[in-house]
Amino acid sequence: MLASYAGPNPLPAQTNKERAITTEWVNYFARRYAKTQNAVFAWDAIAVILGQYRCLPWWLAYLKRAARNIQTLSRTNIPSGELAPFVYQALEFVPGRGGLNPFREILDTAHDMMIAFDVLTEIRGGKKLDFALTDVARDHPARCARTPKCQSLSRAAVSVIWNAHKSQFDR
Ligand SMILES: [Zn+2]
Repeated sequence: MLASYAGPNPLPAQTNKERAITTEWVNYFARRYAKTQNAVFAWDAIAVILGQYRCLPWWLAYLKRAARNIQTLSRTNIPSGELAPFVYQALEFVPGRGGLNPFREILDTAHDMMIAFDVLTEIRGGKKLDFALTDVARDHPARCARTPKCQSLSRAAVSVIWNAHKSQFDR
C-alpha cells in the first residue's frame, strides 16, 4: 500500500514479533470485514497499518486520524441515535468556506479549474489573454461538464476564475 511512499522510511524499527502481531490484527479485521461488510473493521485495519508509521505525508496523517476517530466511536464513545453526525465529525468533514457543502465545493473547484485550464490551453496555443478569455466564455457552455450545464458564462467571470487559478499553472 505504501510501497511507493517517497521519502525517508517512515516505519519504526519493528521486531519480527511486533510485525507478526500487526499482521495478525490486520488479517483478523480483514476477515471480519469480509464476513460482515461492517466498514468499521476496514477502518480498524487502516488504523493498525497507518499506526505503524511515525511520519506520514499530511494527507495520510489525516487518514490515520480519521481511522482513530472511527475506532474511538466503536470502543470508548459509541454513539446512539442518529449516527451520521458522528461519522461526519470522525472523518473530519467540515463545512466549506461560508458554510458550503464540502461535496459541492469540490465540484465547483473542479469546474473553475477546467475553465482556467481552457484559458491556459488557448494561451499556450498562441492566443493573447484578451482573446482567450472571450473565446473560453463563448465556448464554455457547450463544453461544461456540470449538471445542469452552464447556460452562459460571461467574459468577466472567466477573467475572475483565470486570475484566481493562474498561479497554479506552470506557464
Ligand atoms: Zn460550466
